[in-house]
Amino acid sequence: MQDLIRELLIQLGEDPDREGLARTPRRVEQAFRFLTSGYHADVDAVLNDALFTVDYSEMVIVKDIDFYSLCEHHLLPFFGKCHVAYIPRKQVIGLSKIPRLVDVFARRLQVQERLTNQIADTIREKIAPLGVAVVMEATHLCMSMRGVEKQNSFAVTSAMLGAFRNNARTRMEFLELIKLRSAVPGLRDAAPAGLACVGED
Ligand SMILES: [Zn+2]
Repeated sequence: MQDLIRELLIQLGEDPDREGLARTPRRVEQAFRFLTSGYHADVDAVLNDALFTVDYSEMVIVKDIDFYSLCEHHLLPFFGKCHVAYIPRKQVIGLSKIPRLVDVFARRLQVQERLTNQIADTIREKIAPLGVAVVMEATHLCMSMRGVEKQNSFAVTSAMLGAFRNNARTRMEFLELIKLRSAVPGLRDAAPAGLACVGED
């Protein structure tokens, strides 16, 4: 990969041998290996020893989970907050494991919609809850840095399964508890994620 980064620097019109860039290919490789480490992460290993059987059927919420991912269309970051809720049937996930689960899927090349769905689907598969909801709010640098006009670089996506899909009151309770940033004036017209930067070269 370092040879490719060195060639990229040349193609950008840079001198890869100047002092400041001498170790850049190595650093970039290390950064990309880390930012895509989710491909090699094992969900079962992450959740290992953290699934518990409990007699509890109220909504569990973990909100404001910071996440950083890479847009698969431009290899530029998108990042923001992830909110996860579920209603247990028999099992719960250790709370500290939810952010790690988000990282497993965020540290890949992604579109925000797929990332949102993968987190929700995984929780459904692992503990079969009565319902699971995931909302992600993110800023996309591929849009804001490039100054793409007439498109908001802020996007909100959601995945609502089971009780959160079927029961409007449950859904509203969750949305009220996370108080979406998109409810702030000026952010209401958030673009659907992914769609935003697709279709343009
Ligand atoms: Zn993009």
